[in-house]
Amino acid sequence: MDPALIAALAGARHVVMLTGSGTSAESGIPTFRDAQTGLWAQYRPEDLATPEAFERNPRLVWDWYACRRELVEAARPNAGHDAIAELDGLLHRFTLITQNVDGLHQRAGSPTVIEFHGNIMRSRCTAGHPADTVDESGPRPPRCRRCGALLRPDVVWFDEAIPGDVLATATAAVDDCDVLFAVGTSAVVQPAAGLAAQAQRHGALLVEINPAPTPLTEAADFALTGPSGCMLPKLAAALRTRRQSCLT
Ligand code: NAD
Repeated sequence: MDPALIAALAGARHVVMLTGSGTSAESGIPTFRDAQTGLWAQYRPEDLATPEAFERNPRLVWDWYACRRELVEAARPNAGHDAIAELDGLLHRFTLITQNVDGLHQRAGSPTVIEFHGNIMRSRCTAGHPADTVDESGPRPPRCRRCGALLRPDVVWFDEAIPGDVLATATAAVDDCDVLFAVGTSAVVQPAAGLAAQAQRHGALLVEINPAPTPLTEAADFALTGPSGCMLPKLAAALRTRRQSCLT
């Protein structure tokens, strides 16, 4: 691990980390860039995760999310999620923003997670009422107990706006940070992709972790090439060691 990066992190006032679906790839949850398998191989995620797709065929979209929920339930946080949870205690101030909808950061123990795109384990109706329980035994999608509208996953689909409070909290953290990490994200889905440039505009360091190049790589101050499940534990270990050597 680059000692200059570890020194910058140890001295940082506020570190923000933006994670994307690559962070969960090592837990067996495919990214949107991976080919879909089985029944779903004929569809592109970009054609299912939209309001238009749900209007056209709500049952198809509901069933796709039901299948993804099963995958998430069976998955376990990986070493990258664990290291991110540990970073929270190793850094002066740490804010985690995720584009992931799988809840694995919370399951790994990250205390506060800004869920930029919602969470597939929650449902709400198309009129916005949250669903406490979902009855999967009847017609699919089930209907809202309050107003009768169709239930849908509580996620932000392509072409939908990020909820105002979530966007405001994430933007405020990015405006305040002196280091921004972009981990496991292709950095093409807006507005999340713009957070890195927003941080750099006020002088924050940009650190990327990804096995493949992205539109952020060239502009990054540190580009760590490799899977997050390998790079993040190394980063946490280097910070732990530095902290121990400062204490002794
Ligand atoms: P993306 O699918 O566009 O890109 C994934 C990125 O992860 C790529 O750059 C890839 O090189 C990188 N990657 C692959 N394996 C990795 C690993 N082991 N470690 C680190 N990086 C790795 O994902 P995105 O940028 O998050 O944006 C697409 C949208 O996909 C988001 O809106 C998100 O909500 C949604 N999504 C979420 C999940 C999830 O919750 N797990 C899964 C699929 C898609």
